Amino acid sequence: MISGRCAACKYLRRSCPSDCIFSPYFPSNDPQRFACVHRIFGASNVGKMLQRLPPDLRAEAADSMHFEAKCRIEFPVYGCVGIISQLHQEIQNVETQLAKTRAEIALITSSNNTIQEAQLRDDQYYSSLNNNFMQPQHTNIIGQYDQMAFNNSSWML
Ligand SMILES: [Zn+2]
Repeated sequence: MISGRCAACKYLRRSCPSDCIFSPYFPSNDPQRFACVHRIFGASNVGKMLQRLPPDLRAEAADSMHFEAKCRIEFPVYGCVGIISQLHQEIQNVETQLAKTRAEIALITSSNNTIQEAQLRDDQYYSSLNNNFMQPQHTNIIGQYDQMAFNNSSWML
């Protein structure tokens, strides 16, 4: 049953038992996946790590080990930490940009409010000026009529 062996058992040149711990996560059609993980962690350690986990977490753990191993092979010094640091830096840059944009929006909103308040104050000021200006005119005109009436009446007398 050579064709039924998983990638790990093929790589390790052994028969693949029905309860093989590697079989669900290292299929025979992707031999590179196991070779990669074996090179960094070692087949025995990978088997032990998978064995210790509950079955519902094993697939994710195998994916994670594969990712970490691939990164370590590509970037021997930092491995996946380099990528994680780069992503953290990107998050920090975007958060800084977001904070700046929010501050600009707050500044623009508050300056618009200040302009509107100033316009409102100006409008109130000018309307109060007009009222004050109109008021004496009315009284003057009325006063003039009163004066004329008084004068006329004094002429009459
Ligand atoms: Zn196997």
